[in-house]
Amino acid sequence: MQKKYYLTTPLYYVNSNPHIGHAYTTMAADILARHLRATQRPVFLQTGTDEHGSNIEKTAAEKNIPPKQWCDDISDNFRTLWKTLGINYDYFIRTTDKQHEEAVQAVFEKLIKTGDIYKSEYEGLYCKSCEAFYTESELQDGKCPVHHRPVEAIKEESYFFRLSKYQDPLLKYYEEHPDFLSPSYRAREIINFVKAGLTDLSVSRTKVAWGIQVKSDPAHTVYVWFDALLNYITGRGYNPDHISEEFKEYWPADLHLVGKEIFRFHGVIWPAMLMALGLELPKKVYAHGWWTVNGDKMSKSTGNFIRAEDVVADYGLDAFRYFTFREVTFGQDGDFSMEAFRRRYNSDLANDLGNLFSRIINLVNRNLDERLPEDPSSKTYAEFAALTDKINRSIEDLQFSDALETIWNAISTLNKIVAEKKPWEMAKKDPEALPGFLNEMVWCLRLIAGWIEPFMPATSASMKVHLGAKKAVSEGEKIQPLFPRKAENRPEGK
Ligand SMILES: [Zn+2]
Repeated sequence: MQKKYYLTTPLYYVNSNPHIGHAYTTMAADILARHLRATQRPVFLQTGTDEHGSNIEKTAAEKNIPPKQWCDDISDNFRTLWKTLGINYDYFIRTTDKQHEEAVQAVFEKLIKTGDIYKSEYEGLYCKSCEAFYTESELQDGKCPVHHRPVEAIKEESYFFRLSKYQDPLLKYYEEHPDFLSPSYRAREIINFVKAGLTDLSVSRTKVAWGIQVKSDPAHTVYVWFDALLNYITGRGYNPDHISEEFKEYWPADLHLVGKEIFRFHGVIWPAMLMALGLELPKKVYAHGWWTVNGDKMSKSTGNFIRAEDVVADYGLDAFRYFTFREVTFGQDGDFSMEAFRRRYNSDLANDLGNLFSRIINLVNRNLDERLPEDPSSKTYAEFAALTDKINRSIEDLQFSDALETIWNAISTLNKIVAEKKPWEMAKKDPEALPGFLNEMVWCLRLIAGWIEPFMPATSASMKVHLGAKKAVSEGEKIQPLFPRKAENRPEGK
């Protein structure tokens, strides 16, 4: 049996509702998964929510509700958004799931036994929001580099994970597997971090009640990152006390998709944890960039905030998915502005694809009398078909914008051909040639409908219906546009 391509998003932390950053990673995973399914490769996409830690405890206390209820609500919001965004995931794990909690406890006990986890005392600079300790040199202006908030000096009894022991094995692994951390311009930073020297990692808390208890020492709960990272194996049935057959079907993961801010956790701590457990490492960890909005950091308080749900409600899901993966190279940082969005919507979608499509379909319906020709042989079709491999490779390399660019170049080629041949005149001047021409166009559009499927599933499906062997609409009736034109200079949010 062919091993399933096992693909994950990070577990999203339920201290706040989902935003465009979460949507981005998850849509990327969905695009790749849809592509693999469409090319008959078994794939498994796991996503979920990360629900423990002092932040959750604090937020729930402020709202005066039990932490679990807070987690249930926010976790539901993530699932609702995934539905809105057409995410076709296979499994949604929550770190409050009993199976996960038991497996984390078992992992902790196993590593205490092997000596990879030991008890000591921690003194360090702690960012409450990150739930992470920083060294002096990692701070920016004495503050947390992520939150730009002051850190606290904290001293407490703690269990430690012997991360330092894995410094050399990690460096050796990076060297032998140059594709493990991608893209390479982000990997360099991680490798330099490891080269600078790893210190053991505090992996338990005595101050945090909302966490998974250490079984042999219940005054401690497991550090939220140590708990959350394990989801990638516990979600597939891993427990060190009884490793299931199911787990062997999935592990190692083929790809962990992450945002650049958590690359270090996934590129250093996670592989070291797997080494300690004697498990294989994932084949690839890929870190993408961040979105700004209108050139600035996204922030609810300044109103510089875009909700995926709102864009989808106004312009449709496929337009949103198209824009996010066309506008920016996956990996690099990008900027979201409604102005740029509307520009692409009208030019790329309403004009280039939408107009081309309705033009051809209307001509087919008016001139081809019930049947579409079944012969794909034509020069343009052959040239187009040869692009399929290139598009597939781009998607598999996570170069989504390259794939879309190739597709839209092909669309623009078709538009040029149509403008030259003027098929609407052909019906009168050269009626013999028209069926052959429309035949060629229909076959090319069928290819395009297939190519865009992972990105724009509903548009693809609608195109396929119209490009089928039967007339989709009755005589004289015009088809609905795929993307109705929108005014470009509307006020924000309208
Ligand atoms: Zn922080």
